[in-house]
Amino acid sequence: MLISTSGLILIAGGGVTGLTTAICLLKNGYRDVLVLAKLLPGDLTTEYTSPWAGAAMVTAAEPNDIRLQEMDMHSIKEFERLANTEADAHVMHCPGVQYVQAPNGGMSPDEDVYWARKLYSNFKVIPKEKLVSKTDYGYTFDSCKTLLLIFSSLLCY
Ligand SMILES: Cc1cc2nc3c(=O)[nH]c(=O)nc-3n(C[C@H](O)[C@H](O)[C@H](O)COP(=O)(O)OP(=O)(O)OC[C@H]3O[C@@H](n4cnc5c(N)ncnc54)[C@H](O)[C@@H]3O)c2cc1C
Repeated sequence: MLISTSGLILIAGGGVTGLTTAICLLKNGYRDVLVLAKLLPGDLTTEYTSPWAGAAMVTAAEPNDIRLQEMDMHSIKEFERLANTEADAHVMHCPGVQYVQAPNGGMSPDEDVYWARKLYSNFKVIPKEKLVSKTDYGYTFDSCKTLLLIFSSLLCY
């Protein structure tokens, strides 16, 4: 669907969702973009999630959730492209670690709990003796995170 770049676009919410949408619109030629929000960068309350986020690309897909895994694979490719080629996107590489408590107290033999090896680079399984107590498996990997400077980049437009 084509939307005219000349009309007013109103975005509800000044968190990472609203501000990323606003940045994308501004970068694509839309000039009349208004963000309407109760809370904005600089505010710190528990009603406003974005300032507290680690802002890392970490999958929450279950081993059998192929659809979400594919979405996450597209997302991480885009994060890596931004980290490698677009300095003003404020995305950087970062190391990650994930410890998982398997549902129902155990790992199912027919599920590949390490499916995320397809997603991340430098993926390494954490040996059982090095796991945090009460977790069933874990791994380390390289991922990407956004910097909260994304907020200040919006203010430059
Ligand atoms: C400690 C922590 C760590 C996290 N780490 C990660 C991570 O590593 N990776 C990751 O992907 N996610 C992470 N998350 C989750 C992520 O932070 C949220 O999914 C994301 O910030 C949500 O952004 P948002 O823009 O949708 O909402 P918010 O940042 O909550 O913004 C909501 C906006 O809507 C406005 N608003 C709401 N209702 C109204 C209203 N009625 N009138 C006017 N304005 C209104 C608010 O004022 C605000 O501007 C983390 C979350 C927490 C708490």
